[in-house]
Amino acid sequence: MAAVPVMLATRRPDAASDEAVPASGPLIDTHGRVHRDLRISLTDRCSLRCTYCMPEQGNEWLARASILTLDEIERVARVAASIGISTFRLTGGEPLLRPDIVDVVRRLATIEGPRGPVELAMTTNGIRLPDFLPGMIDAGLDRLNISIDTLRPDRFRELTRRDRLDDVLAGIAAAAASDLRPLKLNAVAMRGVNEDELVDLVSFALDHDAELRFIEQMPLDAGHTWSREHMVTREEILETLATRWSLTPLPGRGGAPAERFLLDGGPATVGVIASVTAPFCGDCDRLRLTADGQLRNCLFSTTEFDLMPILRPSTGSGTGTGSGTGTGSGTGEAGVDEMDAGIERMLRTCVHRKLPGHAINDPSFLQPARGMNAIGG
Ligand code: SAM
Ligand code: SF4
Repeated sequence: MAAVPVMLATRRPDAASDEAVPASGPLIDTHGRVHRDLRISLTDRCSLRCTYCMPEQGNEWLARASILTLDEIERVARVAASIGISTFRLTGGEPLLRPDIVDVVRRLATIEGPRGPVELAMTTNGIRLPDFLPGMIDAGLDRLNISIDTLRPDRFRELTRRDRLDDVLAGIAAAAASDLRPLKLNAVAMRGVNEDELVDLVSFALDHDAELRFIEQMPLDAGHTWSREHMVTREEILETLATRWSLTPLPGRGGAPAERFLLDGGPATVGVIASVTAPFCGDCDRLRLTADGQLRNCLFSTTEFDLMPILRPSTGSGTGTGSGTGTGSGTGEAGVDEMDAGIERMLRTCVHRKLPGHAINDPSFLQPARGMNAIGG
């Protein structure tokens, strides 16, 4: 499959309003949201091909040369932590496909921000967890989310286009046997696919001392096949669960994407992430770093902020398509301090330019060109 230098979204809008970007203080946007969570996509490659995320064939992979090195990721992460990012979540694609994954965890886990050590989490499909989990825990991984949408082998094969349910189950078993808590399992709820398994998935999670979190399907598949009718809504999910458990809303959600409920009074819980029918943009504290060095301030953003000219000044932009940054971009030797200053400024600009909401429900909504595997979920 062809490797392409990706120019999937607008790299960066005009720089005219950069004057207003705060030069110090917390990472705050113009709507008062302080950003504390950085999602780091380690690769766009994956061992599965979930229908809601990737096409079966013909995916345009990021060029290998454009994938951030561990040194580059660590550099961006250190700068981000120094200005208030306190949680890193490693994702992808499938983060466990990255051969240096244990080193990535080890290097990022040592980072400290002004308020102490960062928290390091990962979202994975679970395949290869039995191989890597002990090393990652030893290296400092704090939390794990594992995705599983169905417990039925035939469905799993159809939904992920791979026959790997047993590998995912082995990964979940390994996580359950470890000390990593809280453990979360993610499931995208889909009409006519797994909507009859919602209760079974929660029970499965409870058996593994984990919290199931249902996600409303979002228009983020690389094949652009999303439809509102196919999505199972928050309301429908709660109605189904209420046939089996009494649900008590848990207060104190903060900026977290999941609304959580006690099951039969607790302590067991379930979560629902209703990005489409009950958006939580007003409290969003997240930004994203793609595997090819683009900062994104929203999953649904069509604008990206290119760090490559800062990270790889002598090679132009790294991908050959980035626009100038105004901070040590393009040519010449950027000193370490200058490079860090450029990264900080780009982080601040990215956050500053964040829109109030994702507008999925607006008729003019435009799905981003990248699929979820290339954005980082
Ligand atoms: N490969 C890993 C995994 O599946 O957990 C990490 C990357 S994946 C993109 C991160 C999360 O995004 C998964 O829980 C997945 O179910 C979710 N996801 C992917 N595409 C989605 C979509 N279109 N709508 C809602 N969630 C989606
Ligand atoms: Fe891979 Fe995760 Fe996307 Fe499924 S959701 S195709 S496991 S990146």
